[in-house]
Amino acid sequence: MLRVSRIHFPVTALGPGRRLGVWVQGCPLGCAGCIARDTWDAEGGREVSLSELAGLWREALAAGAEGLTVSGGEPLAQPAALGEFLLAAARIRAELASNADLLVYTGYEPGEITGPAAGALDRADAVITGRYDVTRPTRLIWRGSANQVLTTRTPLGTLRYGPYLDYAPDLVPFQVAASGGYLWFVGVPRQGDLPKLERALRQRGVTFEAVSWRP
Ligand code: SF4
Repeated sequence: MLRVSRIHFPVTALGPGRRLGVWVQGCPLGCAGCIARDTWDAEGGREVSLSELAGLWREALAAGAEGLTVSGGEPLAQPAALGEFLLAAARIRAELASNADLLVYTGYEPGEITGPAAGALDRADAVITGRYDVTRPTRLIWRGSANQVLTTRTPLGTLRYGPYLDYAPDLVPFQVAASGGYLWFVGVPRQGDLPKLERALRQRGVTFEAVSWRP
């Protein structure tokens, strides 16, 4: 079982193309300025079986998914389940003759990823590593702060992510989804974007009761 916060398809703001997005629940790192505080509680979210996740991945590929993004929360806080999910995802991809890539976000630094956590990433084509550092804003796509590093780990990862290593778009990709009474955002906003969004919505009469980017 993998404890997850949410799952969504298609995600277009966290990696290239249309993707299955899986947000893992639980993060022990507590970065100041984290915009996903709702994913911190290791007892929150819900447990999803690996067979259900594999089924969702299979459906996404059948619907044209070009990749899988596992974010969080902290995926490496559940290394065994993450590793098994990525292994199953790679097998299904091969079975369906797909070249969809597997991307994993983690707040850990490369030197901290050892033992079971390193093994969990065996099947990842690319990883984005490092804590969110509010003091180091960046314009690089898919990264929240300048210290975070996008690393390719396979030829497919290099093919898919090579063109984006230094890419800083004028506008960041960003999605909005509504479900279960919640409005949630997919993507990595630039510093100051969310307060701007809140102000713009307030001027139009929309206020949030609670947000995941403040305690
Ligand atoms: S930014 Fe990522 S690693 Fe840092 S606290 Fe938030 S979810 Fe955890």
